[in-house]
Amino acid sequence: MIFEERKWAELAENMVRTQIAARGISNGRILDALAKVPRHVFVPEELRFMAYDDCPLPIGYGQTISQPYMVARMTELLDPKAGEKVLEIGTGSGYQAAVLAYLGAKVFSIERIEPLAKRAQDNLRKLGLSASVIVGDGNKGLPEEAPFDAVIVTAASTEVAQAWKEQLKDDGRILLPLRLHSGVERLLLLIRSEGKEEEQWYDYCRFVPLLPGVEKTM
Ligand code: SAH
Repeated sequence: MIFEERKWAELAENMVRTQIAARGISNGRILDALAKVPRHVFVPEELRFMAYDDCPLPIGYGQTISQPYMVARMTELLDPKAGEKVLEIGTGSGYQAAVLAYLGAKVFSIERIEPLAKRAQDNLRKLGLSASVIVGDGNKGLPEEAPFDAVIVTAASTEVAQAWKEQLKDDGRILLPLRLHSGVERLLLLIRSEGKEEEQWYDYCRFVPLLPGVEKTM
């Protein structure tokens, strides 16, 4: 199967219509971002023919680029505003970071596997998107760039790390897939406002696990 580069915009529009709008996401800014960010750029070459399909895809090192709907859903729940400072934990391919940056957020994204971080940073730069990728352990956040308006975690965590809370503004939100039991994960949106924190629970989902430390690669 050959991926025809010149057809990607058509494939992306079709993806938005049949997978994202059809499942109830109606925010025009988010639908536009999903239609305009070239997802195939973030997918390994041999899988590009599947880049706009309704599924996650392997990106190497045992990691995945999330399903398009999940990226749209998490973006909708996080609702980034232009100019906001957003911290992403788990850069992976860089696609989620690209969507957030396309919406005008100033994105800092942490990845523990260096070659993935490098590939993601190259692709983001090529597309002219404002997102910085940092190699590190996302459990520690990024104190040098704190405070953040929002934190988005794209690997399954068993807890809301203290560092993410400490590095969040007084009015801010944290979105993550929280692992409740083995095999059961659910999106949790933690909203901090006027000194109070509110928890909102959303979709059940499946993510690769948030791991400790930085991967040793050669
Ligand atoms: N948002 C990505 C998908 C993420 S897959 C995309 O759009 O493609 C989850 C990623 O989190 C993997 O690349 C994994 O290596 C990374 N990860 C897992 N634990 C981490 C940690 N503690 N710190 C930083 N990255 C981590």
